[in-house]
Amino acid sequence: MLLPELREEVCTLHAQLPLNNLVAWTSGNLSARDPETDLVVIKPSGIRFEHLTPDNMVVVDLDGQLVEGDYKASSDTASHCYIYRNMPEVYGVVHTHSRYATAFAVIGRSIPCHTTAMGDEFGGEIPCGGFALVGGQEIGQRVVEALQGSRSPACLLINHGVFAVGPSAEKAIKAAIMTEDNAAIMYFAYQLGEPAPIAQADIDSLYDRYQNVYGQ
Ligand SMILES: [Zn+2]
Repeated sequence: MLLPELREEVCTLHAQLPLNNLVAWTSGNLSARDPETDLVVIKPSGIRFEHLTPDNMVVVDLDGQLVEGDYKASSDTASHCYIYRNMPEVYGVVHTHSRYATAFAVIGRSIPCHTTAMGDEFGGEIPCGGFALVGGQEIGQRVVEALQGSRSPACLLINHGVFAVGPSAEKAIKAAIMTEDNAAIMYFAYQLGEPAPIAQADIDSLYDRYQNVYGQ
């Protein structure tokens, strides 16, 4: 069987989606790209999260063609592959319809940067990209457009939900979790009043410290 370790990793990380309340029923998916072969391991379509195993993950090539798997790949596969083809630094992609972030997507509003945590992780707002129907690679095109010229590892797509990317699937999932957390904070902040701005220079400092100094 191809890529046993990456299959295991992608399967294990999928459990984080329901665990962090980012998905309902079978919605949401994640994939990882193998740096050696450029093959992509992704969730099978329509299988419940508790039934996912390393064996039933699907392996596709960068064009989304089936390489190995007993199941049909996720309906977002063409879009994940478009992102990998156009963002060579990306090795993990996560997609959710998480509740608060998708509420921002429904009204086509980017999530603005009003917390130090957002400055750290996203270096500014989480942008909202354009509309695309599910099934082809158009969603991937809207994601790449939205992330161009942004430091954010995540974006929203209008009327749809969240796409997060990273140098690994684990980093992408972290960005998806932080997107939802910050969307919820902003939702509640708007109920209380006018969010206080953070100066761009301070956002730049936060981002720089977190990306280059923070952690072990
Ligand atoms: Zn979706």
